[in-house]
Amino acid sequence: METRAPYETGTDLLSPNRNLSPISTELDENGRLMVGGCRLSELADHYGTPLYVLDEATLRQSCFAYRQAFERHYPGKFLTVYASKANSSLMMSCLISSEGFGLDVVSAGELITGLEGGVSGDRILLHGNNKSDQELILAYKNNVTIVIDNQHDIDRLSELIPSELPPVNIMLRFTPGIECHTHEYIRTGHLDSKFGFDPEQLENIFRQLRSCKWAKLIGIHAHIGSQIFELGPHQDLVPVMADAMLMARKFGHPVQDLNIGGGLGIRYVHSDDPPSIESWVKVISEAVISAFRSRNMPLPRLLCEPGRSLVATAGVTLYRVGARKNIPGIRTYLSLDGGMSDNPRPITYQSLYTACLADRPLVKPEERVTLAGKHCESGDVIIKEIDLPYASTGEILVVFSTGAYNSSMSSNYNRIPRPATVLVQAGHAEVVQRREQPEEILRYDLLPERFKELK
Ligand SMILES: *Cc1c(COP(=O)(O)O)cnc(C)c1O
Repeated sequence: METRAPYETGTDLLSPNRNLSPISTELDENGRLMVGGCRLSELADHYGTPLYVLDEATLRQSCFAYRQAFERHYPGKFLTVYASKANSSLMMSCLISSEGFGLDVVSAGELITGLEGGVSGDRILLHGNNKSDQELILAYKNNVTIVIDNQHDIDRLSELIPSELPPVNIMLRFTPGIECHTHEYIRTGHLDSKFGFDPEQLENIFRQLRSCKWAKLIGIHAHIGSQIFELGPHQDLVPVMADAMLMARKFGHPVQDLNIGGGLGIRYVHSDDPPSIESWVKVISEAVISAFRSRNMPLPRLLCEPGRSLVATAGVTLYRVGARKNIPGIRTYLSLDGGMSDNPRPITYQSLYTACLADRPLVKPEERVTLAGKHCESGDVIIKEIDLPYASTGEILVVFSTGAYNSSMSSNYNRIPRPATVLVQAGHAEVVQRREQPEEILRYDLLPERFKELK
């Protein structure tokens, strides 16, 4: 049986994405887990469960790792842009902007969250394969760079932006035809993708954009997928993008930005071994330097868009253990007080997670159990097989690496309110997203007058 506790794998303080737990994880004098100087079971008692906990030290170290790697390995200008879909809130926007980063958004909601959180519009990129007019106008008014994904974007903007007004900065996204080994749903760089222009179309688009007064093409973008453990695909991506930039310049576009997207993987289970932030940035930087030298082009401003690798490891989710069902010879189910509404990744992507008991992380495992959620789906399982000490009802269980694509993908399925998020740092905990209340679930329901008589 698995006996290693998550934080015993050795902590890579420089590259949090390589760890299973936040970098501030430690044990108190009674062997209970602490993160950010706060005891996890105490947070659960105080703020209730399920609870998302985010460790500020890990968030800031992840930002620092990207910044330092670019400073070390890339002699030109650079900008790291946080893909806010991984975890979007006022606090995250504000923290990211205080680290000097930009922000990626894909909707009016994410855009407003960035602006309200203090990110200036000229550091925001609007993505999306089906942007609404409302989203395009909001972006234009706030000086946001718009990443053109398809002809529809060009057509809508041509109509929406009067030609006498100053042009909007745009980047052009294309699918570079690069395959990488990750889950099919989060692969985006191969040709059969809903995102971006086909490479074949680029020449025509560059030609067409020359006559668009509303547009200033400042960069080229590609994003090849998520949770990628290999460095090769990003390395291969660079010369393909350099060629696209060269072509754009031949058509007279003032392109300076090369945006290689995000995708660096993180460790969810012991056997995962993602590259460090530094090695990812180094490989890409070296590829850019070499590709641009050999084409006699000046170094571009290098942009990247990490989401998962900036936030995943900073987050843990706390649940309270409830019902137990033992099917002799088959399986023991332990039910948690959350599930697919706060973490839809296992049911969507068959994702794996690591967990332990908050107050007894080092106690030897006694049984193999399945951690089930409380939703009305048999597939609502957080961890299919995990070895744990015998967990009593009411004990707090910690699931690690839930900072990315958990809160942001959460739902009200089964009309279950969304959990709160607390930010922990140096022994302080602050609520940065409050818990939804059961009565708030009704906030959008309207009962037609004639139904009221039936009540
Ligand atoms: C999702 C996404 C990212 C971030 O991907 P991660 O794997 O979380 O780093 C970056 N850029 C674009 C365009 C995306 O859609």
